[in-house]
Amino acid sequence: MIARSPANWQGRDAAGEPWQVAMRTVIGDVDELLGLLGLSRGDVDIDDAQAFALRVPRAFVDRMQPGRADDPLLRQVLPRMAERLPLPGFSCDPLGEAGAVRLPGLLHKFHGRVLLIASGHCPIHCRYCFRRHFPYAAMQPARADWQRVFDCIAGDPSISEVILSGGDPLSLPDRQLQWLVERLAAIPQLRRLRLHSRLPVLIPARITPQLLRLLGDCRLPTSLVIHANHAQELDDGVAAALAPLRRAGVTLLNQSVLLAGVNDRLDDLCALSERLFAIGVLPYYLHLLDRVAGAGHFAVAEERVHELHAGLLARLPGYLVPRLVREVAQAPSKVPLQFPAAG
Ligand SMILES: *Cc1c(COP(=O)(O)O)cnc(C)c1O
Ligand code: SF4
Repeated sequence: MIARSPANWQGRDAAGEPWQVAMRTVIGDVDELLGLLGLSRGDVDIDDAQAFALRVPRAFVDRMQPGRADDPLLRQVLPRMAERLPLPGFSCDPLGEAGAVRLPGLLHKFHGRVLLIASGHCPIHCRYCFRRHFPYAAMQPARADWQRVFDCIAGDPSISEVILSGGDPLSLPDRQLQWLVERLAAIPQLRRLRLHSRLPVLIPARITPQLLRLLGDCRLPTSLVIHANHAQELDDGVAAALAPLRRAGVTLLNQSVLLAGVNDRLDDLCALSERLFAIGVLPYYLHLLDRVAGAGHFAVAEERVHELHAGLLARLPGYLVPRLVREVAQAPSKVPLQFPAAG
């Protein structure tokens, strides 16, 4: 059994360091990354002149396989020449998010739920990120803007759930997060709180005892949607950090993006679902790639997508099959993929 961590989880990494150290020492240099993996520039078509530069936490690099230029974790973060190819239909704001902005940092697209850009910062740069061209920093509310955000939510009784997103909301220090969560919990009509964060996977030490208390004590039932694309990301350190979150009553879900060369094989997707369940997380969404400029080399052909989904349905219990969805600008929800009639 893996998903048992000591009841005295300390929120430190293997070297005893707190998460802030890992945030400060992310790798931003291509040669350093390649050196750690025993690879050289000749092994991959690197492009290190990109504005959306390499950024990856060391704890994530530790899970990459040395000597493998095609490692599924490495492929998610390595800037490549292929990103320069302009592709028809791939744009800088593929979700039309600009139109959903109610206030700086507040997106309202779907009924009953608002999304808050709680932090513009993210400790990783995923090459397929649909927000890679999004003006994060400009979107993040300044201190004085927060009150307008709370007032706006409180003034709309249809809103019952707030999603803290980003960037990565867990990039915020616990003190700031606590302030934010308390202010939200004070809005009477809210019934649920949700966090969308990749940090529990990237830097498991981010799950601090303070964070556990803060989420465990909140009056709002809380869910945490983590983001892992491959079972190889979910090592025992991640399992150990998630276990106390579950014990604190947080509902754990995962979202993934279907990515060519990362997880577009049936065995990989099944292994991801199985591993998620083993560590107490249910698969929630499998997103089709957003058509964001620079990410075309991650696209999976439509026919193959159908094949993979049919394969998942045939191999896994229903609750381990993630909902296969795409974002459609102006649609009232994420849109489930339509399947050709069976038979
Ligand atoms: C994805 C998303 C949500 C959450 O959608 P769920 O289907 O509830 O997970 C909410 N707001 C925005 C703007 C989103 O992009
Ligand atoms: S973790 Fe999410 S928000 Fe951060 S770069 Fe990756 S896809 Fe984008």
